[in-house]
Amino acid sequence: MTADAPSTPATIDRPSREEAEAAVRTLLRWAGDDPDREGLLDTPSRVARAYEQWFQGYGEDPLEYLERTFEEVEGYDEVILLRDIRVESYCEHHMAPIIGKAHVAYLPTNRVVGISKLARVVEAYSRRFQVQEKLNAQIANTINEVLSPRGVAVIIEAQHQCMTTRGVHKPGVSMVTSQMLGEFRNNPTTRAELLTILGNPTSRFEG
Ligand SMILES: [Zn+2]
Repeated sequence: MTADAPSTPATIDRPSREEAEAAVRTLLRWAGDDPDREGLLDTPSRVARAYEQWFQGYGEDPLEYLERTFEEVEGYDEVILLRDIRVESYCEHHMAPIIGKAHVAYLPTNRVVGISKLARVVEAYSRRFQVQEKLNAQIANTINEVLSPRGVAVIIEAQHQCMTTRGVHKPGVSMVTSQMLGEFRNNPTTRAELLTILGNPTSRFEG
């Protein structure tokens, strides 16, 4: 449905668990340590298991989460906003964590989804290698295409550990991206209402 919303492409040749663990041993040696010392012996298998959780988004289809909708909302057609959704993602350039929050809003037509489903969509796209701009667009486009609402707004504020712990080494800096579609994009009043409800997103960042 969305052009940029694939799960694991069928052509990906996944290595075996043993190969993944061997790769972790190689990185431990590359860092300068001895993978055969006692404290590191179980590290490769722990890292492989951690990867299964951190990257479980590849096994999920975000579109599925939005398929079940509710129509008995007594004509409610104002903004629905889920704020402060925890984002745990991974920079595709450095494989370093991106930690922050997403705020997801939409203007329903005649149907709504369970609010936990919006968080599920955020999670399914976050638990992959990402760039924040792409993550932001994928969440907004998926909600827009599946629910066909009058408007969608997705704002993400996050810290990139590839920037806070290395490189330019700027702790405390967070990046804010925002994708507005439909009435949030076209109607300044609607957009202003949303931003008022949200307040200043950057002031509430808690890492
Ligand atoms: Zn990076």
